[in-house]
Amino acid sequence: METKSDGGSSSEMSLLLLTFRNRSTVLKTVHYALGTLMACVVLVCMVELIKHEGAPSTQRSIQHRKVLSLSESVLLRSVKKSDGIYDVFISVKTSAKFHEERLAVILKTWFTLDPTNIFFFTDAEDPSIRSIVGAQLIPTSCSSDHSRQALSCKMQAEFNYFLNTNSRWFCHFDDDQYVNIPGLRRKLAEFPPHLPWYLGKPSIQRPLEILDKENPVDQKKIRFWFGTGGAGFCLSRPLAERMVNLAGAEQFINTAEKMRLPDDVTMGYIVEMLAEVPLTKLDEFHSHLEPLRLVRELEKQISFSYSSYGDEDGKEERNIVEVQGFQEMMDPTRFLSIHCKLFPSTSWCSAIP
Ligand code: UDP
Ligand code: MN
Repeated sequence: METKSDGGSSSEMSLLLLTFRNRSTVLKTVHYALGTLMACVVLVCMVELIKHEGAPSTQRSIQHRKVLSLSESVLLRSVKKSDGIYDVFISVKTSAKFHEERLAVILKTWFTLDPTNIFFFTDAEDPSIRSIVGAQLIPTSCSSDHSRQALSCKMQAEFNYFLNTNSRWFCHFDDDQYVNIPGLRRKLAEFPPHLPWYLGKPSIQRPLEILDKENPVDQKKIRFWFGTGGAGFCLSRPLAERMVNLAGAEQFINTAEKMRLPDDVTMGYIVEMLAEVPLTKLDEFHSHLEPLRLVRELEKQISFSYSSYGDEDGKEERNIVEVQGFQEMMDPTRFLSIHCKLFPSTSWCSAIP
């Protein structure tokens, strides 16, 4: 019995071994097949990646690479990592006459903090600016003066362009502003983006009161707040979507003309009176309509500006942020020094005496 049983077990054993061997062969084959498949997938991905890197559509990122120093790109990566999503469309209004005088310092400083989301709306082509910002230079057909029409024409272009993006936020700034991009992103994160938001800083103490031009016979007055354009303002996408029929296509220009209001005031009118969304005031935005020497704790602020004005004796007075750093002759706007204060590891900041 035992022998039989033994004999039975040994034949069972050899069958088992055979099955096992067969199985291990099958397993090996499966292993090889999987391995080869994985290798193919990796290879295809790499080829795609290389193709993508070289595609003309990425010309913009190649150009960005040109202007980014190593330390700046490290900084950029840290901004990317901490925020995760690229959801803020930033438009800067400018004019050909300011490309050199005003854009140069922006391109050297805060543009490097988010070089794929900052767009410049201007009135003429400029190869040297284009070589740095690529497709983000938008030469509109608006005229190049300081008239209400010219400025609202650019605002129209900014708004329409934003409507065609997927960004969650539209933020406008003037070209005499410095924008603390990480500070802006941190602030925007406080506002649920699925709701309509109009964020900005008024330049007057009370809401603006004007005659309602829609009802000229009644002589009725209307009151509303507006975020001053020179401090910057932001609209969330749900608000912008609500404004498509009120400010899209050519509606913004039409309203500015009908109301005879400057572009930032027109924005306030459309948002508060027509879209019925109140302005949320942000103290961290600063225009040159306020005394900038009073601005403290720069890390907490979002936008800064500068200006010059003649005093009573005809001497030129400067309204600028008080910050240690480069000498005023080297850095009249103080933007270089502000940048170094906020991002001290920037390579050229080591040149501060
Ligand atoms: N601007 C313009 N065309 C002009 C003058 C100004 O597009 O002829 C833009 C300028 O680039 C800036 C904004 O309008 O973004 C405000 O201009 P500026 O700072 O010169 O004047 P402000 O209105 O602040 O006194
Ligand atoms: Mn200005």
